[in-house]
Amino acid sequence: MQKTVLITGASRGIGRAAALAFAKKGYRVIGLYNKSTAKAESLKAEIASLGASVEMLAADVADYAAVEAAVRQAEGKLGRVDVLVANAGVSLVKQINDTTEAEWDRLFDVNAKGTFNAVKAVVQGMIDKKWGRIITVSSVWGEVGASCEVAYSASKAAVIGFTTALAKELAPSGITVNCVAPGVIDTDMNACFTGEERAALEADIPACRYGTPEEVAEAMLFLASEGSGYVTGQVLGVNGGFK
Ligand code: NAD
Repeated sequence: MQKTVLITGASRGIGRAAALAFAKKGYRVIGLYNKSTAKAESLKAEIASLGASVEMLAADVADYAAVEAAVRQAEGKLGRVDVLVANAGVSLVKQINDTTEAEWDRLFDVNAKGTFNAVKAVVQGMIDKKWGRIITVSSVWGEVGASCEVAYSASKAAVIGFTTALAKELAPSGITVNCVAPGVIDTDMNACFTGEERAALEADIPACRYGTPEEVAEAMLFLASEGSGYVTGQVLGVNGGFK
């Protein structure tokens, strides 16, 4: 049976690659994006050209009312969400002394509360169906921590704690909850690095290169699949061996 996937932060990077990968596998795609309307509309056209049903809606994941309204609107057209990819996220490269209270709050509002908000908007539908797949997105830094990225690392560690706890809570309802933890992936999030910094980073990665958004999307497809039904509460690193 055709399934509906909801992807947050779908307009670019890993979310965009996931939206295309799920569409190619026959899913109906609901994408939430923050502000990039032009990018979201162009992705919508690309997905529609593949023959997949698609809705793209603007919603700040930090705002529960906005997320819920967008999800209800999209579900009205494409049916209740079977698979959630809670992907939207923001990063911050700053030493702790320079990190402001507002920056700390925003990282947690988007990365941690945004994950909660997306789950809360779809989970009752999954419980009613006794089937669901929830895929959260942490980071290698959420697992091991990064110097000068303490707020980001902490917010992504929160996503891992959320995932492992929720997996236990939802397993009796036939819903799996797993986390993808990307290493260094070639997206706008890492566009801040100079060529020299990139080369130094790549030298530290056992696979000797950045990962691609498509490689992360492949891991998400597995965690969404029927066959992954006994895999829950796991953190799947997509990191080329980097930790
Ligand atoms: P990106 O910056 O290209 O994309 C982030 C997406 O999140 C964008 O579509 C953006 O619009 C959306 N977003 C940001 N704030 C939002 C908000 N308040 N409401 C709704 N959407 C919002 O980065 P990416 O690399 O594609 O990152 C995707 C996810 O992967 C993030 O959670 C990120 O932390 C995680 N991640 C990325 C890397 C990497 O190296 N790129 C590594 C580890 C984890």
